[in-house]
Amino acid sequence: MSGPMPSVFFGHGNPMNAVQQNDFTEGWRRVAASMPKPSSILAISAHWFVPGTAVTIGLYPRTIHDFGGFPAELFDVQYPAPGDDRLVRRVQSLVKPYEVGVSEDWGLDHGTWSVLRHAYPDADIPVVQLSINEARPPAFHFELGQQLAPLRNEGVLVIGSGNLVHNLHAYAWGRHVPSPYDWADRFERNAMQLILSGDYSSLVNYERLGPDAHLAVPTLQHFLPLLYVLGTQQPRDTLSFPVSGFDGGSMSMLCVRVG
Ligand code: ZN
Repeated sequence: MSGPMPSVFFGHGNPMNAVQQNDFTEGWRRVAASMPKPSSILAISAHWFVPGTAVTIGLYPRTIHDFGGFPAELFDVQYPAPGDDRLVRRVQSLVKPYEVGVSEDWGLDHGTWSVLRHAYPDADIPVVQLSINEARPPAFHFELGQQLAPLRNEGVLVIGSGNLVHNLHAYAWGRHVPSPYDWADRFERNAMQLILSGDYSSLVNYERLGPDAHLAVPTLQHFLPLLYVLGTQQPRDTLSFPVSGFDGGSMSMLCVRVG
């Protein structure tokens, strides 16, 4: 491989994307096809947001259906990717002295598999999930991403799965909303500009970005995976947005590719 693996933040949106084919899922497939095949994947999903940092271990992490009120076909999805305990130990050593626990209970949640079953449908690349410590501030998560950056030189694909703008109160479930809300659109444009100019500090301190930020990021789960991915940036990386668009007016499906 000529250079480091890219890192990618995916906007996963509605869980139904896992079983649908649309512009977003087609975009995820293209993102994967445009990169070298990774040796393993480290996934940071919005849906493993707990009081501590841990990684999944075991030969085959189970497929978790962490939602309710969706059709049976979504509960039938399995993503039987193998685990990678060597990557687990590597993650633990990279972030020392900070301690990363291990979890045999958690597996791959829909933040991870709804994207990966389109990006890597064969499920033949080992996947480890890293939990998001809910007790720590955004700067902590950005710095953890920085510490994990060397994985990119070892063929590991680091992915974050969340949504840059994620407001379920404003989300138009099942209704046709052709365009994003003004505040959602403004926040996304602002964030893209900050990303392109390398002003990650403003994103880490997103709450200072004003009222739009409070509507776009009412809770941190879906935003923090982006900070991990940005944290892995290395000096010669280019930044790009290979997938974009809004769903339901208040969910940004923006993907951010680093490298
Ligand atoms: Zn989600």
